[in-house]
Amino acid sequence: MEEHLYCQGCGVQIQSEQPKEIGYIPESALSQETVLCQRCFRLKHYNETQDVSMSDDDFLRMVSDIRNTKGLVVHMIDIFDVHGSLLTNLSRIVGEKPIILVGNKLDLLPKSTNLRKLSQWLRSMARGIGVKVKDVCLVSSKKGHGIQELATTIDQYRNSQDVYVVGTTNVGKSTFINRLIDESTGEKNVITTSYFPGTTLGFIEIPLDDDTHLIDTPGIVNQRQMIHYLSKKDLKIITPTKEIKPRGYQLNQQQTLFIGGLARMDFIKGDRETFVCYFANDLPIHRTKTDHADDLYDRQVGELLTPPNKTTMKKLPPLTEHTFRIEEGQMDVVFPGLGWMTLVGGDVTITVYSPKDVAVSIRKSFIKKG
Ligand code: GDP
Repeated sequence: MEEHLYCQGCGVQIQSEQPKEIGYIPESALSQETVLCQRCFRLKHYNETQDVSMSDDDFLRMVSDIRNTKGLVVHMIDIFDVHGSLLTNLSRIVGEKPIILVGNKLDLLPKSTNLRKLSQWLRSMARGIGVKVKDVCLVSSKKGHGIQELATTIDQYRNSQDVYVVGTTNVGKSTFINRLIDESTGEKNVITTSYFPGTTLGFIEIPLDDDTHLIDTPGIVNQRQMIHYLSKKDLKIITPTKEIKPRGYQLNQQQTLFIGGLARMDFIKGDRETFVCYFANDLPIHRTKTDHADDLYDRQVGELLTPPNKTTMKKLPPLTEHTFRIEEGQMDVVFPGLGWMTLVGGDVTITVYSPKDVAVSIRKSFIKKG
C-alpha cells in the first residue's frame, strides 16, 4: 500500500501536485521533520490564512465517517456561544457512541458564575437536541482549567476505545488538543489555532496507547454562528479574550441598548430595570431612546454602532425582531456569539433584534447574585 503523509497541523493528506487544493506542500519541503501543509505553515509562521477548496458537504462526509465506529465522543462547545456551537445533528453524526459534553472557554465567564447551574443548563440544552450526555465538563483550553479532570473523565468513559473530539469550527478543539499534547509531551503548538472558522480540515490522530487514538475531527461549519457574517477585525472586537466585565444599565421603559450594530434590545414595558450586559469588553454598547433608535441605526450603523463596519454591514443579514415577556428576575437574554444581558428584576416586555439565523433566547441566569 502506498504510504500517505498527513499534515501535522490540520491532519489533511499531503499532496504536492495541486497548489490550490488542500494539503499542498512544495516537493522540496517534504523532507522537513515537521510536515505542515502550506496552509498551516502560513498560518503558523505568517499568521495569514489561505483559501482552500473544500465544501461543507465534504466536511460533513468526512465527519460522518465516524458514525459506525466504536469509541467515546467528546463534543466540545463554546460556553460563550452555545447556540452556535452545539451540534443539533450530533446523534446523526456520531451514531450510538457515549458522549461527554465539554463547555470550553470557561476563562471568559465572570468569577461569579455558578458552575453547577451552568452545567445543568448545558445538560438541558443537550437534552433539547435529543442527546443524553454521560457527563458535562467545564474547561478552559487556553488557561488549562479543568483539563486534567477532563482527561480523567475521558479515561473513565472510553473503555479502552478511541476518543473522537467533535465540534463546530472555532470552539477551541485544536487549542484543547494542543494542550493535551503539550501536557504529555511538552511540545508547543502542534495543531493550528486561529480566529477563523474551518482551520482544522482533516482528522488528526494522537496515540493514547498502543491501540487507540484521540481523533480530532474537522470543525463543522454552523451557519448560526455570528462569525460567518463578520470580518477578522470585527471578530476580534466581539470575541472576548479576557474575563468579561459586567456592564450594568438602569433603564426605563422606552429605552434601547445597541450592542455595536449587531444586536439591539428595546425595553418596551415594565418598571425601571437593571440590565447587566456580558459582552466582550471592547464591544461598544450604546443607549438611546427607543423613539430615536431606528433613525440612529440608519444613520450610524457601521460608524458609531460598530461592528459591523461600512463594508461588513453589507454582508450582515437584516436584523430580525422578537418580543419576549419575561416574568421572573435573574433571567438572561442570550445573543448567540455575542453574549447576554441579565435582567435583575422581572416582569418586563422587551423586543430584541439580531441577525437572521442567530436567534435570541432566554435562560435562567447562572451568575450568582452580587
Ligand atoms: P477549533 O476551530 O475548534 O480548532 O478552535 P481553535 O482551537 O482554533 O480556537 C478558536 C479560537 O478560540 C482561537 O482564537 C483560540 O485562541 C480561542 N480559544 C480556544 N480555547 C479557548 C479558551 O479556553 N478560552 C478562550 N478565551 N479562548 C479560547
